[in-house]
This record gives sequence, C-alpha cells and structure tokens, in this order.
Amino acid sequence: MKLKILYDNTAKPGFKSAWGFSCLIEAKETILFDTGWDGDLLLYNMHKFGFNPEKIDKIVISHDHWDHAGGISRILNETKNPEVFVLKSFSEKLKKEIAKRAVLREVSGMEKISGGVFTTGEIGTEIPEQSLFIETENGFVVLTGCAHPGIDNILNFIKNYGKIYRVIGGFHGFNNFEYLKGIPMLSPCHCTTHLNEIKKMYPKNYKECCAGDVFEI
Ligand SMILES: [Zn+2]
Ligand SMILES: [Zn+2]
Repeated sequence: MKLKILYDNTAKPGFKSAWGFSCLIEAKETILFDTGWDGDLLLYNMHKFGFNPEKIDKIVISHDHWDHAGGISRILNETKNPEVFVLKSFSEKLKKEIAKRAVLREVSGMEKISGGVFTTGEIGTEIPEQSLFIETENGFVVLTGCAHPGIDNILNFIKNYGKIYRVIGGFHGFNNFEYLKGIPMLSPCHCTTHLNEIKKMYPKNYKECCAGDVFEI
C-alpha cells in the first residue's frame, strides 16, 4: 500500500506547497484524504506524480475547513462519480453541492471505508473531525487533517482497535509530548505548531512529511 502526500505547507523540489493537507492512499481502491484549498495546486501535484484523478474511487474529507475541503469542487470535475465521505455535521450547503456531482456518504460513527481503511467517525464537539486509520502488519497508520479534537483523543479512540504504528498529518497545537512516547513513527506536518519540539524529543521516530513524499506502508 502506498501513501502519496499531495498537499502540504511544505513541498519537495518540483512540487508546489500551500497551507492545507491532502494525501492519496493507493490500496485495493484509490482513496483521496482531504483536498487542500487550491484544487489547481492539488491537480498540479497529482500530475507531478503521474497520477490520473479519474482513478479516485473514494474521497474522505476530515473536517469542514477551507484548507481541507476547499479543493473538492475542482477535483470532482476531474473524477468519475466517486463516493465522498463527509461528516453528518458538515454544512447542508456543502453536502448539497457535493451530492450534485458525487455519491455523498454521511459518516457519524466509526466505519470501514475500504479494505483495511477505516474512519474514526466524528470525534470532537467544537470542530468535529474524522481521521483515517489503515491496517498494516506493524499496526495502524493514522492520517489526520488538523487534529482539532486533540491527537490524544483521536489516538485513544483508535487504540480500542489495535496498536498505533505511525501518525501522519496535522497535530495542530498539541503539546502533551509525553503522550507520543512509544509510537514508532511520527510524521507531524501541515498545521503542527510544535513540530520542532516533537522532532527534538523523538529524533529517531520523526519522519519528515511534505508534498511530494511517498510512503510505502
Ligand atoms: Zn488544516
Ligand atoms: Zn482545521
């Protein structure tokens, strides 16, 4: 299974960067997790990877914020009627627009998105968010958007189903660094305020993540 980082605040040479996050999961099915804000930039980085967006089977939007959901309308013009998984609590207007151009799926609780790929369902009350967790032989690889509900709350939920192997995505303002002890691989990116502290505290576990990165999991 391959993960390709399509959109992040930083990028490898040749790729474009902007505030936001998006990751492609290439498994039995092809799943797009988040869309960044600028759909053109997202498509630019997809083409840089030599990826054809028509191959996307499913799209999951972590939360209803511009830097994660903003690229959706542009990307839906390039896809072939994918299923789009949003939270039930997303704005009715956004859900209605998505439903015009794709198969809308409203998520509330934990559910399977595709073989070995699960959503946590809605976590958090202030800014509800869903994260993905992917089954691998080493444990779960977790993908977060901004992690507004708190990385600890998200991971505590996933720990009910098995151990965590790696976390990739935004950690937001999370500063309970001790909590991250014991997680073999940490790839905080996007909106992570304390990236340098995490890197300094866990130098062996830290693995850089930016647009243009490919991770074999
Ligand atoms: Zn964000
Ligand atoms: Zn956000």
